[in-house]
Amino acid sequence: MRYINKKLTIEKLSVDRIAKKYGTPAYCYSFSQFRKNILNFKKSFNSFSPLICFSIKSNSNINLIKEIKKFGFGADVVSMGELMVALKAGIHPRKIVFSGVGKTSDEINYAINKNILLINAESQSEIKEIERIAKLRNKQVQIGIRLNPNTDAKTLKQISTGKKENKFGVNEETFLDLVKKYKRSKNVILKCLSVHIGSQILDHKPYEKMLKVIYKIIKKANFNFEFIDLGGGMGIQYENNHNKLDYKKYNNSIIRFLKKYNSKIIFEPGRSIIGNTASLISKVTYIKEEKTKKFIVLDAAMNDLIRPALYGAYHKILPGLKKNKRSNKIYEFVGPICESTDKFSSIKNFQELVEKDLVVLQDVGAYGMSLSSNYNLRLKPIELLIKNTKIKVIRKRQTYKDLF
Ligand SMILES: *Cc1c(COP(=O)(O)O)cnc(C)c1O
Repeated sequence: MRYINKKLTIEKLSVDRIAKKYGTPAYCYSFSQFRKNILNFKKSFNSFSPLICFSIKSNSNINLIKEIKKFGFGADVVSMGELMVALKAGIHPRKIVFSGVGKTSDEINYAINKNILLINAESQSEIKEIERIAKLRNKQVQIGIRLNPNTDAKTLKQISTGKKENKFGVNEETFLDLVKKYKRSKNVILKCLSVHIGSQILDHKPYEKMLKVIYKIIKKANFNFEFIDLGGGMGIQYENNHNKLDYKKYNNSIIRFLKKYNSKIIFEPGRSIIGNTASLISKVTYIKEEKTKKFIVLDAAMNDLIRPALYGAYHKILPGLKKNKRSNKIYEFVGPICESTDKFSSIKNFQELVEKDLVVLQDVGAYGMSLSSNYNLRLKPIELLIKNTKIKVIRKRQTYKDLF
């Protein structure tokens, strides 16, 4: 994204023109950024050729999944719907892993039918259920067990998953017990240890610690796991002053781990692949002036992008047209929804805005559209993909007919 003649552009197409043609609010993805992220991820870990399973929950647009498939990626899914969309996008079942603490019998049945690579189980009850269904159907089902390594990912507490108080995975004691119980099962074939300690991780140290914990526990388990699934969680730079996750250091720790314990590594990245590829284009509906601040009421709301309301997450906001004059009042960017949390951010010294101006919320590719809703019976926004200076509608704007 950059300004050309004071106009904000995405891959050289002006936001203004995109908004005129497709309306607002609109999610707009840049293919070249997407491609860059994919290639960079692959290159960073190429010495041990991991299986990279894109986390569908971060963005479940089938057209984007079809693109990512072309780069050899698999998928990490957490529901039947996500498993269906991954298969429909053409991802090979043997490149799909299924995570989640509450897979239902229907979901397990479906996954077994489709012969996916791994069901990563998160409790003894779940493994029992997988075994029951597998026996009934006279099948052999490959599973992983998700370990909770009790490692602090040093990220927002709402998106931390690898500490003992979180619901995910099983603790060391249970893990060792389950390995013992299931390593000789006829229908459940134990193949993988999986972890996922959280999201938006910017420091390699929690990963390093996680690898140490895994190693210690596998030694105790005295079992050869074919796969070690390290999950996702790699963070991106939402703010300029964020430090970047050092892939090199993470890569080196994994290489050290593999020297001691030979296995195939699986990753499940979501945000790091899709997060910084999209912008949400929105129009200023009204400006409400208060004593100390101005409310900039946008036509985008928490139903389109809930991260600020849900996690207090920050997204940079850029004006569609650059002007020189700065406001001396605080701008509070809000949506029209009847909730006080329907607020994107408060910014000092933003440039002067007037009604009908465009603004762009940045880095909304991950957990943006996939977390959108119809709250207040608002329509879900359109999704556009810019590829080779052409705009493709990859999901139509919802219509009232779709709703009723
Ligand atoms: C959400 C999730 C991911 C993806 O996390 P990112 O932070 O988007 O990389 C990977 N694995 C599991 C099990 C998840 O729940």
